[in-house]
Amino acid sequence: MSTAGSLTINNARLHQRIEELAQIGKLGDTGVCRLALSPEDLQGVILVKSWMEQAGLEARIDAFGNLIGRLEGKASGKPILMLGSHIDSQPYGGRFDGAIGVLGALEAVQTLIELGEQPEQSIEVVAFCDEEGSRFNKGLFGVRGMTGKLEEGELEREDANGVTRREALLTFGGDPSRFEADQYPAGAIGAFLELHIEQGPVLDARQEPLGIVTGIAGPLWLTVELTGFAGHAGSVPMPMRRDALVGAARIITALNQLARSEAGAPTVGTVGALTVFPNSRNIIPEKVTFTVDLRDIDMARRADRERQLRNVLEEVCIEHGLTYAVREDTNNEARFCADWIREIMRDEATRLLGNGHAPTELMSGPFHDSLALSYVCDYAMIFVRCKEGISHNPLEYAAPRDIELGAELLYRTMVRLCKG
Ligand SMILES: [Zn+2]
Repeated sequence: MSTAGSLTINNARLHQRIEELAQIGKLGDTGVCRLALSPEDLQGVILVKSWMEQAGLEARIDAFGNLIGRLEGKASGKPILMLGSHIDSQPYGGRFDGAIGVLGALEAVQTLIELGEQPEQSIEVVAFCDEEGSRFNKGLFGVRGMTGKLEEGELEREDANGVTRREALLTFGGDPSRFEADQYPAGAIGAFLELHIEQGPVLDARQEPLGIVTGIAGPLWLTVELTGFAGHAGSVPMPMRRDALVGAARIITALNQLARSEAGAPTVGTVGALTVFPNSRNIIPEKVTFTVDLRDIDMARRADRERQLRNVLEEVCIEHGLTYAVREDTNNEARFCADWIREIMRDEATRLLGNGHAPTELMSGPFHDSLALSYVCDYAMIFVRCKEGISHNPLEYAAPRDIELGAELLYRTMVRLCKG
């Protein structure tokens, strides 16, 4: 029986860097708080920049606050191969989210340099600015910036202390006056690879160290408002009530059942926020507003579930004498990873894992920097198992061996991609 064998990357250096970066903005024993564009974020970027330079990359912070390290290829005019993720964190975050993608990418490229190889096309390792979106309530800032997808008014967004993104970006070393100059022209990026922890429990449950991502699910976000009629909780007989909260309860339950209706499908449906008016214990609820988050990799199945949900909504409202309004807040299509890169990853992962079966392939429910890049180039992602799927929490944990395997797969995929 074949075994996983030895890895090409320098495991000790990779773990040492993950550990060292985790000291910046350290929260408790295992967590981190490195909010985007904060002094801690900058300290992290400066540290990673120094490692990039040690490795032999040309490193800079661009106008959007992205840290970019470049290795010149033999044919520098060719579309580049980009690798990366983010090092900013949630306020109550873990040390692996994003960080292993940036440090794994750096490790992959440094290994290539140390083996004396020059890639065909140039390679860039990127720590994208503000993936999380926690501080200014809108994420993927850096990657949307470099791909020309920023929206009106983004620089005027304020954090909880009234600091605008413009101010924070200037302090960080970014420069809004150079935005246009720092955008990548169409066709400049040939492909993008991202290594990330799964942030979900699938790999852990299957006892697989890593998985190949099929695509990033398309979220549908709705806001539903149900209106009934308020009345005294003590006097209005049950058959005469128009109780908006009872209607909401039935719809929420139906969403949960619809998302589970196909065994094995990755469909997920969530109602995460709800407001009740007038929200008093002795008044029949008149108005209830709640959010719907519905995701799937299969757009036809997602459309089916949405249709079924809307039917339930209609029926429940008729039955309970309610009126309703549905607002669509976000409707994104799924973004599939490139088949040709997945094929390479499958091949390399089968050899690397050496466990005699094909590697697990799974959908990403959360979005990542890859999502924005999917609109400008082919992309692929590797997920590393994280304990019980816990993330955005200091308890987040990925085992050293799993991270090594993920970074090695990233390295081997990169090598296949940069051979002319
Ligand atoms: Zn992340």
